[in-house]
Amino acid sequence: MTDQSLDLRISPKAAELQASLIDFMNTAVLPAETEYEAYRHAAGPADHSVPPVVDRLKEQARVRGLWNLFLPAESGITQLDYATLAETTGWSIELAPEAINGKAPDSGNMELLHLFGTADQRDRWLSPLLDGSIRSAFAMTEPAVASSDATNVETRIIRDGDEYVITGRKWWTSGAADPRCRVLVVMGKTDPSAATHRQQSMVLVPMDTPGVRVVRDVPVFGHYDQHGHCEVDFDNVRVPVENLLGEEGGGFAAAQARLGPGRIHHCMRALGAAERALAMTIDRAETRIAFGGPLIDQGTVQQGIAESRIAIDQARLLCKHAAATIDACGNKAAAPLVAAAKVSVPRVAGEVIDRAVQVFGGAGVSDDVPLAAMWGWHRAMRIFDGPDEVHQRALARAERARTPLLSLPGRSGDR
Ligand SMILES: Cc1cc2nc3c(=O)[nH]c(=O)nc-3n(C[C@H](O)[C@H](O)[C@H](O)COP(=O)(O)OP(=O)(O)OC[C@H]3O[C@@H](n4cnc5c(N)ncnc54)[C@H](O)[C@@H]3O)c2cc1C
Repeated sequence: MTDQSLDLRISPKAAELQASLIDFMNTAVLPAETEYEAYRHAAGPADHSVPPVVDRLKEQARVRGLWNLFLPAESGITQLDYATLAETTGWSIELAPEAINGKAPDSGNMELLHLFGTADQRDRWLSPLLDGSIRSAFAMTEPAVASSDATNVETRIIRDGDEYVITGRKWWTSGAADPRCRVLVVMGKTDPSAATHRQQSMVLVPMDTPGVRVVRDVPVFGHYDQHGHCEVDFDNVRVPVENLLGEEGGGFAAAQARLGPGRIHHCMRALGAAERALAMTIDRAETRIAFGGPLIDQGTVQQGIAESRIAIDQARLLCKHAAATIDACGNKAAAPLVAAAKVSVPRVAGEVIDRAVQVFGGAGVSDDVPLAAMWGWHRAMRIFDGPDEVHQRALARAERARTPLLSLPGRSGDR
């Protein structure tokens, strides 16, 4: 897509959905946070049961037509349209994405099933996921190897007659502790002798398959999520060959396909969180009195507010450019923009939230306000969905392949 044809306006349908979503957030989701937090606090960090308020919100969202909006084939809106909606849900990261059935990793897994699933696989797994009646997880990362390079994955998927036998250990399998999690998308090697990017395959593994064991839930900066980020052991796990997702050797390509739109959704939600942190900063600074006046009168506080606004707006344009390019030209063409957004946005969110923490003083690092948890999650975001350096590497490669607009003096011919 050329810059001249870039149109970042959302469709009338998306504008209507956004108005409805804003009302839903204001009247239902944000007020429900207290109940959600109270339930989780009373249940304790080892508990993974679902606070009842979650199902109530899901029902309300569905009635409003705020359901499965992330999947263009279901919602009829574009990635650019959904980007705006995803940002709005980022104001309440624990509740809103799930309320509209757009929470990772389910949304990415639904995309995978939509793109690569057989009719039977869609029937068994995609339908209940779209219905919000089950959840899923994506198991690629392994504790034993540097998994930011997915070619390192060591889990073996070996064909034995009509079955695949899976052996290996994963961790950071988000969602695997949720009692509603019924299926894992497992990435492993079917043919270690094949070309580097053709060794991996994905298989669907029902959670209750013998040999699947959740070893532990791993905290993020000491915080345990309701659905967990788990270490999972696979000990001679047998599934029918029909559980292969896509083709044998196609796991790497499928993983790439899954991550384009999903990364932009994550980024837009992070900008929603940043917007909330900025709004909280201003609210707090206007009412907190120090040295004879409200904090907002201090030049440094005003400077921080301005820096946050500039950074959020720049990052949003980058994300929308990436989303519009996915819509117009596909995931591959958008990959460098997605990589740039994935590096930029978690930094921006982290900086904005960090400024908010500072303005809140001691309260900022407590659990009385959500800033500490927000900061932790967005710091982790610089690692999940690919660490910064991996995206920077891809971006540098794309830049090197690009022909500059003008010829450099002293250089002859194209590079
Ligand atoms: C909260 C959270 C949720 C997650 N959810 C999931 C999930 O649902 N499913 C799943 O499979 N995984 C998940 N992950 C795992 C995540 O995707 C990996 O942690 C990530 O890909 C990095 O892999 P690694 O931890 O093995 O780090 P390593 O590969 O060991 O890399 C460590 C560090 O090395 C550096 N590095 C790597 N490559 C380069 C390079 N080319 N140049 C310079 N430096 C480099 C980076 O700083 C990187 O952080 C999650 C992680 C977190 C924190």
